[in-house]
Amino acid sequence: MASQLKYYLDQNYKRFHRPELLDSDPLFFVHQYSNPFDQEAVALFSALLSYGNVKQIKKSVSLLLNVFEDFGGPHRAIFQFASKKGQKTFLNEMTHWKHRLNDPRDLIALIVLYADVLERYQSLGDYLVSIHRSSLLESWHFWVTDWKKKGKKIGGPYFSHLLSSPLDGSACKRLCMLFRWMVRKDKIDVGLWQTGSPLLTQQGFSPNQLFLPLDTHVGSLCQLLGLTQKKTLNWKMTEEVTEAFRVLTPKDPVRYDFSLCRLGILDLCQKRWNVEICEQCQLQPVCLFREVEKKSF
Ligand code: SF4
Repeated sequence: MASQLKYYLDQNYKRFHRPELLDSDPLFFVHQYSNPFDQEAVALFSALLSYGNVKQIKKSVSLLLNVFEDFGGPHRAIFQFASKKGQKTFLNEMTHWKHRLNDPRDLIALIVLYADVLERYQSLGDYLVSIHRSSLLESWHFWVTDWKKKGKKIGGPYFSHLLSSPLDGSACKRLCMLFRWMVRKDKIDVGLWQTGSPLLTQQGFSPNQLFLPLDTHVGSLCQLLGLTQKKTLNWKMTEEVTEAFRVLTPKDPVRYDFSLCRLGILDLCQKRWNVEICEQCQLQPVCLFREVEKKSF
């Protein structure tokens, strides 16, 4: 059964794990830059703002990156906007910016905290691997707790909504996604937190430490593929489905994430049997809806 599932996931991967489809994803912004320091900055802001609808995400991130561009590019702009004077300039530039719950004060908080890390470490990735080398989860929790505490004093009332820790129980989709982008390395993910990256002065993370970024659509797909029976999207479900994928691809448990996400983002799965759509779907032979459909005849 596992080998059958892997076969069809690989078919779906071949169809959707393609750079031509990056423009349907916030990772698209990272690929607009070639300097790895800029790429990390863009990945951080794009991932944390990846909630709400795709159109709104694209608009909010584009406006932010335009301002960064006007001040020398993302990496340089972080240092410029972190000073008291720079913060005022940034607020003037971003007066009308709003991303659902978050306002420019929350971006200022992120900029100040990120700049502080960059003063002391080569990069955010370098900071994360320096905290607890053996466990990504410990590094992650330490980082998020620290930034939430400090960010409250700088940002608006919803600053903490930008950051989540697995140890608090939520599914933490955005940060799982950031780690996937920065730790996996192929034509989609940039792998800048892996050993040997110019962003790191020490050993990096490995793809086998990653967790699946779980949103409602990927969660539903995992249910349809029989990878979980849980109904609630939380960290327990993230762990369960990541383990299920780890059985299929032990060194790279989030290998199928980008290709699975395309089914939702490109509106190619309606989470119900639709013969016209489902007959085109590579996952149809292993989808639970297929079984239900067969029994109804
Ligand atoms: S077979 Fe249909 S319902 Fe199942 S995953 Fe594919 S598109 Fe979605």
